Amino acid sequence: MSKALINKLCIVGVGLIGGSLARALKKAGAVNTVVGAGRDETHLEKARTLGVIDEWQTDIGEAVQGCDMVVLAVPLGAMQQVFAQIAPHIADDMIITDVGSAKASVVEAARAVFGSLPATLVPGHPIAGTEKSGVEASFAELFQNRRIIITPLETSEQSAVQKVEYMWQACGAEVVHTSIEHHDEVLAATSHLPHMLAYALVDTLARMDARTEIFSYAAGGFRDFTRIASSDPDMWHDICLANRDALLKMLHRFTADLQQLSKAIENNDSDYLKETFARAKKARDEFCDG
Ligand code: NAP
Repeated sequence: MSKALINKLCIVGVGLIGGSLARALKKAGAVNTVVGAGRDETHLEKARTLGVIDEWQTDIGEAVQGCDMVVLAVPLGAMQQVFAQIAPHIADDMIITDVGSAKASVVEAARAVFGSLPATLVPGHPIAGTEKSGVEASFAELFQNRRIIITPLETSEQSAVQKVEYMWQACGAEVVHTSIEHHDEVLAATSHLPHMLAYALVDTLARMDARTEIFSYAAGGFRDFTRIASSDPDMWHDICLANRDALLKMLHRFTADLQQLSKAIENNDSDYLKETFARAKKARDEFCDG
């Protein structure tokens, strides 16, 4: 067998992110064998027939045995349970990483299971995704030219950090490092808050009597703004609770700004409205051009 970056990879949770990672690594020739692990035999067999994984196991402890890399790509609410399932089977040279959208909760889950954290544990989060779920939605190019944040721990061995970096680089991604706290605050602002706004807006409209007419007039702008409200409700339930403090801070700040906007409309405060819209347009234009 050729010398690939990873000899035997276990992906626990072969959905959109886990499936896309497996596809990208296979396409790059960076892995010899991919073992899929999950709860549902039908999903895993589907992943195998699609060529995303080579073999599968519903016993997660069995699945990780003999693997040099294990990636947890399950919902945040399932992380602790999966850590507990793999704990008795971890070998010294087995690198463990995850793709969870919030990081402090994953480390807490690991600490609850392991006590002292394994030196081969390197948390991560790909800043890439879609509103779709499941292995059928996965594709090899998902991480191409996208950022992957890794949040190495004080306990993480340098060689493990490096191998996780190489894995994502093999998928065409750019790897950046941040602290866990910084990751969770930034993601609350750039991803978690916008998902709350999209869900809240669509739900408000969906509960109005005139909803059929409202949605029939929904054009491009509304579709763009609300696309992420089609994301998996269970996954977003987990993210909200996992990143509770940072998300609440952003929601309170945004609610106060929205109240100001509402007051400006009530008071016909043209200056406030024009200044707010101009400042936002400038920021959006610069961010898109950049
Ligand atoms: P997904 O498509 O729904 O895949 C999740 C997978 O986890 C499924 O294959 C599911 O398989 C498996 N699973 C669920 N509970 C499990 C359990 N208790 N034990 C074992 N397997 C379990 O979700 P995803 O979008 O790939 O998200 C996975 C992770 O990536 C989440 O932590 C999310 O925060 C993170 N993430 C998502 C995005 C995004 O845009 N979607 C972006 C970045 C990071 P079975 O049902 O067959 O068990």
